Amino acid sequence: MKADENPKERDHKELGPRLDLFAFSDLVGSGLPLWTPKGTTLRNLLDEFVWQLRKERGYERVEIPHITKKELYEKSGHWDKFKDELFQIKSREGYLFAVKPMNCPHHTQIYTRKPWSYRELPQRYANTTMCYRDEQTGELGGLSRTRAFTQDDAHVFCRMNQVKQEFLKIWDIVHEFYEMFGFKLQVRFSRHDPKHPEKYLGDKKHWAIAENILEEIIKEKNIRAIDGIGEAAFYGPKLDFIAKDSLSREWQVATIQLDLNMPDRFDLVCINENGEKERIAMIHAAIMGSIERFLAILIEHTSGAFPLWLSPIQAVVLPLSEKFSKYAHDALAKVRENNIRAELLDSGETLGKRVREAEVQKIPYTLVVGEKEEKNKTVNVRHYRRGEEGEISTEELVKKIKKEIEEKVI
Ligand SMILES: [Zn+2]
Repeated sequence: MKADENPKERDHKELGPRLDLFAFSDLVGSGLPLWTPKGTTLRNLLDEFVWQLRKERGYERVEIPHITKKELYEKSGHWDKFKDELFQIKSREGYLFAVKPMNCPHHTQIYTRKPWSYRELPQRYANTTMCYRDEQTGELGGLSRTRAFTQDDAHVFCRMNQVKQEFLKIWDIVHEFYEMFGFKLQVRFSRHDPKHPEKYLGDKKHWAIAENILEEIIKEKNIRAIDGIGEAAFYGPKLDFIAKDSLSREWQVATIQLDLNMPDRFDLVCINENGEKERIAMIHAAIMGSIERFLAILIEHTSGAFPLWLSPIQAVVLPLSEKFSKYAHDALAKVRENNIRAELLDSGETLGKRVREAEVQKIPYTLVVGEKEEKNKTVNVRHYRRGEEGEISTEELVKKIKKEIEEKVI
């Protein structure tokens, strides 16, 4: 077994801090990851990627506060179900607030701000935001289970006859996103267990309609879904995506949920062609799920060697010796001018040690410069995956890297 194939060598709890992506502090508390500049770059790039896929499909961004009066969750049904997992805050005037463990109830209140004509639907709200759950200390583990996590959340408010089309759009986003990283996806049809109706909100009719739509989607996509009887959310059935990573381990990742209950509880309607109020549907869809958990999976899947477009540092410049420090700085400036994230390693260490350091950091491009390179206005390139690539003009290299970033070449 190569070191890289050993799951222990890839453990994100070890690799993450070694790559300087995140940290934990006893003073802040367990389950509350802190994000370094490099880790924050990673998070923002991933979020931006999902946002681009959503934007192309008509989503708009919304924003919400991280706390709410408890009445919102009483109405949504979450207070009853999740009361013990909520962080609660008492205001100085004696009111009880909760720190949000999910975003759906807040988003319904953005939808209800005005009456909607059927012509204005679907309304698609995207919101990458942190949620908080009072997990027990013993259950916390690195980034896989935290007390504060960031959902790349979205809710679609649409008519029943638009549900299928909206599901298919999200289906495409999920596939485009995960296939970019080389994950293989399987779909699980998570439906309710008719033997335990007490576990679910809403009436039988709702469930039958909702599950029928999901079945049609699976048929239309012509795939064999895993049967997930009893795996539905308490408010509706869902399609769960299971990703297989490079070590053939399986992770439940994205989920698309059809919810006909929250619209009832919050009286979500549109005005239809006949001028009547019509009950609408709500779709919940997270692509990464939680950025923290997705990063735990991605770090272990890639062994920390991220694709070029995602690498917090894309290139590192190494002068052969101090004599070439000025030329190295010139090359660095040229690379940075082109929005390539680059650094210079010119400490007192030997070149061999610095090359190894760049390798440990899994930086895609290492650019060595000495006398020949200074004279020819070139750099000597070593690629993390492809090995030695030799001398190339700085200008040409910049062009090549930019193209690879744009095409999201791995
Ligand atoms: Zn939701």
